Amino acid sequence: MKEKSSFPQTLHAAIRYFAKESNAFDFLKSIRWPDGVVKCPYCKSEDVSFISTRKVWKCKHCTEKSQFSVKVGTVMEDSPISLDKWLCAFWLIANAKNGISSYELHRSLGLTQKTAWFLLHRVRLAMQDGSIEKFSGRVEADETFIGGKARNMHADKKGNVKAGVVGKVAVMGLLERNSPGKHSRVKVRVVRNVRRPQLQKEIKQEVVKGSEVYTDALRSYSGLEKEYVHKVIDHAECYAKGHVHTNGLENFWSLLKRGIKGTYISVEPFHLFRYLDEQAFRFNERKDNDAGRFIKAARGIIGKGLRYVKLTGKIGDDSLPKTPKSWWTETWLLNHLRLETD
Ligand SMILES: [Zn+2]
Repeated sequence: MKEKSSFPQTLHAAIRYFAKESNAFDFLKSIRWPDGVVKCPYCKSEDVSFISTRKVWKCKHCTEKSQFSVKVGTVMEDSPISLDKWLCAFWLIANAKNGISSYELHRSLGLTQKTAWFLLHRVRLAMQDGSIEKFSGRVEADETFIGGKARNMHADKKGNVKAGVVGKVAVMGLLERNSPGKHSRVKVRVVRNVRRPQLQKEIKQEVVKGSEVYTDALRSYSGLEKEYVHKVIDHAECYAKGHVHTNGLENFWSLLKRGIKGTYISVEPFHLFRYLDEQAFRFNERKDNDAGRFIKAARGIIGKGLRYVKLTGKIGDDSLPKTPKSWWTETWLLNHLRLETD
């Protein structure tokens, strides 16, 4: 990304631009090391030399694994997919309003369906909102259920995770309303259930104390008034009283569910949180243009290597945890369901 003016603004231009290997390489390098200083991903040393013929660096401090490419330490690590295809996939996924299926990626980029599926999940991982900034001001909180098949049952069998409603996954959403110079944003995540401790924990984690919080009349929200200006809209009566409503999130839920029913054939509960992240990203970055969204999605590639076994988590798969409560179980659950063990 040397000159801003030459950076592609459309998919067509992006395909042409990244087809040139040096453009794809330079772009990725600028995303990974924005200050221009290349650091060894293993030991963080800056003492590296570039082998231009192979486009790899060699670290002078590391004895084993001393060479690294621009992909090492990113979601693209160990992937034989060419950089231009990765970057076009980022572009497509970041900008498809209603999401894109692995089947479409497979056809558009000429990848096998399995590869396209893997790539899609890795790009979604990159798009996870890493923001640690809490919401404040006027915030809507709401919960919904997604899905139907009891696929996450094996999490029950393996240990101590219980699905909120059998066969459905409970999802909690927060929406910070727009304020001058800042458009509204959402955070969504899979929750174990919709009982009070679970929902209120999410709110307390993500919303600054003293903010106005709008919810429906679900009893799980009662008691929030101790820390927030809590205003309730009873949907049995009406859907809005002035600014007290949860319509922003209701709209987001319908967008989300339309996406699942339409573009995606199904979303496995394991992967639901990645899909949620993707939709939240798209919502939060909706005011940006295609090139801007692409760059933001691509920035998420750092430090998010993800192995295939971790991603599939099939029943009976050796990668599943054998003993509940182990560190591994916890990591697995966090990675797959974003639920917590007791
Ligand atoms: Zn090193």
